[in-house]
Amino acid sequence: MESRVDLDMPVQYVAGVGPVRATQLEGLGIHTAWDLLTYFPRRFDLRRQVQPIHSVRGDEEAVTVAGKVTDTRFVSRGKRPFFECCIEDDSGYLTLKWFGGAYLIRRIVVGMTIAVSGAADTYRGSVQLINPRLQIIYDVQGTDLASDELLPVYPAGNSLSSAQIALIIRKALPRLLPGVTEWLEGPFLQKRGLIGRQAAMAAMHRPEDTDQWGQARRRMAYEECLLMQAALALQRAQATERPAHAMPVTPEIDRRIRTRLPFTLTGAQDRAVAEIAADLARARPMNRLLQGDVGCGKTVVALYAALTAVAHHHQVVFMAPTEILATQHYNKIISYLAGSKVRLAMLVGGQPARKRQYVLAQLASGELNIVVGTHALLGEEVKFRNLGLVVIDEQHKFGVAQRASIRGKGFAPHYLVMTATPIPRTLALTLFGDLDVSTIDELPPGRGTTQTQLVRPGQMGQVLQFVRQRLTEGQQAYFIYPLVNPSDNTELTAAVQAFGKLRDRELPDWPIGLIHGQMPTADKDHVMRDFAEGRIKVLVASVVVEVGIDVPNANLMVVQHADRFGLAQLHQLRGRIGRGRQDAWCILVSSPGSEVSAQRLDVLCKTSDGFKIAEEDLRLRGPGEFFGARQHGLPELKVADLVEDFELLRLARRDAFAIIQQDPSLEQPHNQALRRELRRVYGERLHLAAGG
Ligand code: ADP
Ligand code: MG
Repeated sequence: MESRVDLDMPVQYVAGVGPVRATQLEGLGIHTAWDLLTYFPRRFDLRRQVQPIHSVRGDEEAVTVAGKVTDTRFVSRGKRPFFECCIEDDSGYLTLKWFGGAYLIRRIVVGMTIAVSGAADTYRGSVQLINPRLQIIYDVQGTDLASDELLPVYPAGNSLSSAQIALIIRKALPRLLPGVTEWLEGPFLQKRGLIGRQAAMAAMHRPEDTDQWGQARRRMAYEECLLMQAALALQRAQATERPAHAMPVTPEIDRRIRTRLPFTLTGAQDRAVAEIAADLARARPMNRLLQGDVGCGKTVVALYAALTAVAHHHQVVFMAPTEILATQHYNKIISYLAGSKVRLAMLVGGQPARKRQYVLAQLASGELNIVVGTHALLGEEVKFRNLGLVVIDEQHKFGVAQRASIRGKGFAPHYLVMTATPIPRTLALTLFGDLDVSTIDELPPGRGTTQTQLVRPGQMGQVLQFVRQRLTEGQQAYFIYPLVNPSDNTELTAAVQAFGKLRDRELPDWPIGLIHGQMPTADKDHVMRDFAEGRIKVLVASVVVEVGIDVPNANLMVVQHADRFGLAQLHQLRGRIGRGRQDAWCILVSSPGSEVSAQRLDVLCKTSDGFKIAEEDLRLRGPGEFFGARQHGLPELKVADLVEDFELLRLARRDAFAIIQQDPSLEQPHNQALRRELRRVYGERLHLAAGG
């Protein structure tokens, strides 16, 4: 399709922009005409004067305010039932009341942004609006709001206000829109109930009403999801197109592996093993995610796969995100393999050069069967004689890009990813959308229960008393802190300070250790080993213990400033205890600053279902924060919201996978537009040659 407007041109040449504005726009990450066109408003406000909530006086006749709904309730008692809600803007809170407002119970929900206008009134000393006229501004479903009242609010920068951006885009729109070409076919759009691309692009900036904006959002969100899922489908097709060595599990191999294990596999482990065995038996690379809550026994399942590969004379890489975890895997595997002929080694960053050279040589010659390590295993110089299986523990720390980099050329290894972070379904489709999934949803028998309690800092005396009692009984305890060193901009007690206090005053009778991320690896390993082997009874730690550490005798955990952690993270932490037969206690110490954080922590006290907790965490904090500062590998989405748009995402996923299945390298003429879009958004990463 020929277009007169080149949307790839530098933004400076867009009518009405010029060099000065262009520099300012660059500051917002807008480099091309296309970037400008897809710089969408964050929300819409009423064009009519919206006043800050704090400025509303109790006797004003005509008030218009807008804000986010923080609370709702319906009071049906009394003579005049009413619906009440509280809204909040940057300046304050305001109560809105509708008598007989039962019809609003479903319409107004916490989290949406509404605007209201009406007369103010004073009730028991506070200002309220009674029966105001309601307008729902931000509501994904879209509602009725008259056209000229919508004022776009753009994410502003230091040198450009939202209004200035709005003006630039308003002027540029008529010139740029003709450059927007449709790449989905008419009948397809119709089938999916989607509006055209040009219309959507226009309505994203200047909708006639919120309904039209909803339509535009839906179209653009679908498009984003489709591209993302097509990229995943392609990645999957590429990962499985190379040949792999078939490694069927014979009854003899199965018997030999199982006699090595000191226990019987759970039903869930057996199911996962069967799924993995079926994958390994094929001459196409396995591409599977093994997920399950902490302590459910994933390592053993991975070891089953590893020993299958070894039985077929292939080498295995076992990769963990930290040296501590790599060491733990190594020790555990060694213990299972005692007396067998399987040859195992470690490869981590901090090893002496000679030791490292030795391991590398043995890997290259094929003498080593299994190598356990960290990302040091990704180095160029690591060569294998016959790599058959790659196991990666705690995958999300590596990110999708690294996943591809270990794959190399020629025969592809089978590939098993383990994660103990329960990933909500929505995110799983995005992060692991190119993988098959096995889930272990059952804990091995004979575990104690874990009780979780929320306490205030004022109750620490009692907590310490409880801890002393447990320690006297011979148990071990973790004390977890969110920070390592005291920093001046926060009043948090840091692990280092707390360590001193616990050691000298609070728990002087027990050997106590400190571990945190900034310590040299050798020191960390040393402390960890002392704790695992019981020479240290109390371990003060920053979040380094979060992943995978296994000390069955440690059944007590005190988490300070629990409100500073994410729910999923706390769940992970808690998974460190309750791994033995004894009951365990997790004590969350927090002085919740807001209702939200108390509500959040309460979820942990009530359930130990990791998926439920993850869904809740995601709902409360959104995908970005869900993973915290971790490298999460989520694609940047401009319009789609992985939580709100879940159904749309699923639809787009089905469509994308159908397209790629039918045309795995996107060569057919009717897929060329999709191919171009994919190249534009994902570039060379997809290994899609231009043209085709
Ligand atoms: P994950 O990696 O899923 O967090 P692990 O594989 O470390 O869990 O297993 C947790 C603990 O449970 C380990 O000590 C392991 O030996 C033990 N375990 C695993 N599977 C079983 C089983 N089927 N029966 C009894 N204990 C098991
Ligand atoms: Mg593990």
